[in-house]
Amino acid sequence: MTFETKTLDLLPEALEILESGFSDLPEFQPSVDVDSIRNVLNEVAFRMKDNYPYQHPNYIGQMLKPPHPVARLAYMLSLWINPNNHAFDGGRASSAMEKEAVAQIADMFGWRKHLGHLCSGGTMANLEALWISSRLRPNRKILASQQAHYTHSRICGVLNIPFESVSVDSMARMKVSSIKEALDKGDVGTIVVTIGTTATGSIDPLPEILELQSYYGFRIHADSAYGGYFILADNLGPQTRTVYDMLNQVDSIVIDPHKHGLQPYGCGCVIFKDPSVGAFYKHDSPYTYFTSSEMHLGEISLECSRPGSSAVALWATQRLLPMVRGGAFARDLENCRTAALTFFDRIKSDPRFLTGLNPELDIIVWTIRAGKASEASRLNDAVFEASAAANLHLAKANLPKELFEGCWGNFNWDQDYITCLRSVLMKPESLEWINGIWATFSETVDRVLHESGS
Ligand SMILES: *Cc1c(COP(=O)(O)O)cnc(C)c1O
Repeated sequence: MTFETKTLDLLPEALEILESGFSDLPEFQPSVDVDSIRNVLNEVAFRMKDNYPYQHPNYIGQMLKPPHPVARLAYMLSLWINPNNHAFDGGRASSAMEKEAVAQIADMFGWRKHLGHLCSGGTMANLEALWISSRLRPNRKILASQQAHYTHSRICGVLNIPFESVSVDSMARMKVSSIKEALDKGDVGTIVVTIGTTATGSIDPLPEILELQSYYGFRIHADSAYGGYFILADNLGPQTRTVYDMLNQVDSIVIDPHKHGLQPYGCGCVIFKDPSVGAFYKHDSPYTYFTSSEMHLGEISLECSRPGSSAVALWATQRLLPMVRGGAFARDLENCRTAALTFFDRIKSDPRFLTGLNPELDIIVWTIRAGKASEASRLNDAVFEASAAANLHLAKANLPKELFEGCWGNFNWDQDYITCLRSVLMKPESLEWINGIWATFSETVDRVLHESGS
C-alpha cells in the first residue's frame, strides 16, 4: 500500500499563518540537531513497521479507523503551540474550539443546552458520567448489560459503587424482564444503556427502559462510545432508529471521536443534559457559573491537563465534515453499515457458516458451521490465523451460548461460550473493497476446512 502524504504539503503554508500570529515577539528560533533527529526518527519508522495494517481496507478486525488527514494535520499544526485545555491560560483558542466541537456533538444528539468536554477516551468519559450518577444517587446501584463494556464494572470498583449486570436476549440487548427484576429489588440509581455494544454493535432497549424510568425514577446513562455517530445514518433498522430518536431523553451520553469520529487516539467525550451537574466538579461554584461563556474547561473535567490538539483536530474534522444527516460524514457511516450487511448476507446464505444476531450497526459475528461449540471455536481460530496470513485481518469474540441457543437447533453446547469470528467494517473504503475481501475470506475458509478434513 501507499501512504497518503500529499496533504503534508499543506502544513508549511498553515504553519506560516500560525507563525505570523507571533511576529511581534523578539526574533527567536529554537535550535535543533536535524541529523540526530533524523536517525532516531528513522529508527522509530523501522520499529513501527511491526504493526497490523490498521490503515488498509483489508484490516476489518478490531475497532480501528484511520484518522482523517485533516485531523492528522490539524493535530500536528497545533503541536507548534502544544495547547493545554485545562484552562484558557494554557490553550485559549483550542478551549474555544473544544466548546464549539462539543456543542456540535451535543447538537447531533438534539441537546441545545448541555455540559460536556473531551477527555482521553470512553473509559474516562464513562467514569465521569458514573461518578456524577453516584453523586446524584448516592449508594445506589449501577445496572448495565452483561454485554456492556467491561469498563463499567471496573469503574464501579474504582468509585466504590455497587454494580449489577443484566442478562441479554438473542440480540445481545438487555432483557427487559431482567431489568424489571433488578428494579423490583430496589436501590437501582442508574441504568447504563449501551448504544452499540463493543462485541456485536447491539443496541439496548431504550424505549422500554424510558417507560420503566417514569415509574422507578432512575437515571439513564448512554454509553455510545462506539455507536453514537450512527444517529446520523439513514439506513438503520426501524427498531434501532427508534432508539436513536429517543437518545435525547437520557441524562448523559458518552461518545468516542477516536472510534467512528476519524480522530487520533486520545479523544473521548462526555456530555450531560443538565448543566447544573457541573456543581459536582467544583463544590463552591453556583449553577450559573457553568453555563457562562467564561468557564474554564478544567473546572468541569476530572482530568487536569488535556491535549488541546485533540480539540483542534476534532474541530477541523467537524468543520470539513459537518455532522448532519445526509452529509458526507453520515454517508460514510451508511456505507460502513451497507458493507457489513453485504458481508453478513453472503455469510448467511452460505452453508459453511452459522449466524445468529443480525447486525444493528457495522459489526458482524459468525462462526464456521460445526457440530459443537469447541469444534466451531477451534475452526474459527484456524480461519482467523489463516486469514491474517493471507493479509485479511479479522477479529474474534468469545460470546455466551445464550445469544445463539435459540437459533442453532441441535448444536452441541459442550462449552458455555463460543469463539466467534468478528469483523468491524468501519473504513470509508470497506464497501468498495467488499468483493475482494469476500473472495480472500472464502478461499481461506475452503483451505482451512480442507486441511482440517471437515
Ligand atoms: C471502546 C468502548 C469503551 C471504552 O472506551 P476507550 O476509548 O477504549 O477508553 C466503552 N464503552 C464502549 C461501548 C466502547 O465501545
